[in-house]
Amino acid sequence: MATKNFKCIACGKSSLSKNEIGINKKLLGMKSKNFYCLECLANLLEVEPQDILDKIEDFKRDGCKLFE
Ligand SMILES: [Zn+2]
Repeated sequence: MATKNFKCIACGKSSLSKNEIGINKKLLGMKSKNFYCLECLANLLEVEPQDILDKIEDFKRDGCKLFE
Protein backbone atom coordinates (compact mmCIF):
# COMPACT_ATOMS: atom_id res chain seq x y z
CA MET A 1 0.00 0.00 0.00
CA ALA A 2 2.81 2.46 0.78
CA THR A 3 4.54 3.85 -2.27
CA LYS A 4 8.33 3.46 -2.13
CA ASN A 5 9.71 5.83 0.42
CA PHE A 6 8.03 9.11 -0.18
CA LYS A 7 8.18 11.40 2.79
CA CYS A 8 6.18 14.45 3.72
CA ILE A 9 8.54 17.40 3.23
CA ALA A 10 6.75 19.38 5.91
CA CYS A 11 6.61 17.00 8.86
CA GLY A 12 8.82 14.13 7.69
CA LYS A 13 6.15 11.46 7.94
CA SER A 14 7.40 8.55 5.84
CA SER A 15 5.69 5.91 3.74
CA LEU A 16 3.03 8.13 2.27
CA SER A 17 0.17 6.12 0.82
CA LYS A 18 -0.53 5.84 -2.88
CA ASN A 19 -3.59 8.02 -2.38
CA GLU A 20 -1.56 10.70 -0.64
CA ILE A 21 0.97 10.75 -3.48
CA GLY A 22 -1.85 10.79 -6.02
CA ILE A 23 -3.65 13.74 -4.48
CA ASN A 24 -0.37 15.67 -4.27
CA LYS A 25 0.07 15.16 -8.00
CA LYS A 26 -3.49 16.20 -8.70
CA LEU A 27 -3.43 19.31 -6.53
CA LEU A 28 0.19 20.44 -6.86
CA GLY A 29 0.90 19.25 -10.39
CA MET A 30 2.21 16.04 -11.91
CA LYS A 31 5.77 17.34 -11.92
CA SER A 32 5.84 18.15 -8.25
CA LYS A 33 8.59 16.35 -6.41
CA ASN A 34 7.53 17.64 -3.06
CA PHE A 35 4.95 15.51 -1.37
CA TYR A 36 2.91 16.24 1.70
CA CYS A 37 1.00 13.94 3.99
CA LEU A 38 -2.74 14.43 4.22
CA GLU A 39 -2.56 16.71 7.25
CA CYS A 40 0.16 18.96 5.89
CA LEU A 41 -1.50 19.15 2.48
CA ALA A 42 -4.74 20.24 4.12
CA ASN A 43 -2.79 22.83 6.09
CA LEU A 44 -1.06 24.11 2.99
CA LEU A 45 -4.30 24.45 1.06
CA GLU A 46 -6.18 25.76 4.10
CA VAL A 47 -8.83 23.09 3.98
CA GLU A 48 -9.84 20.27 6.31
CA PRO A 49 -8.19 16.84 5.95
CA GLN A 50 -11.68 15.50 5.30
CA ASP A 51 -11.98 17.75 2.24
CA ILE A 52 -8.85 16.12 0.84
CA LEU A 53 -10.26 12.66 1.54
CA ASP A 54 -13.46 13.66 -0.26
CA LYS A 55 -11.42 14.76 -3.28
CA ILE A 56 -9.56 11.43 -3.29
CA GLU A 57 -12.92 9.64 -3.33
CA ASP A 58 -14.08 11.84 -6.23
CA PHE A 59 -10.99 10.98 -8.27
CA LYS A 60 -11.35 7.30 -7.45
CA ARG A 61 -14.94 7.40 -8.64
CA ASP A 62 -13.68 8.87 -11.91
CA GLY A 63 -11.44 5.83 -12.25
CA CYS A 64 -8.20 7.77 -11.86
CA LYS A 65 -5.24 5.40 -11.84
CA LEU A 66 -3.30 7.49 -9.36
CA PHE A 67 -5.52 6.19 -6.58
CA GLU A 68 -6.36 2.84 -5.13
ZN1 LIG B 1 3.19 16.01 6.96
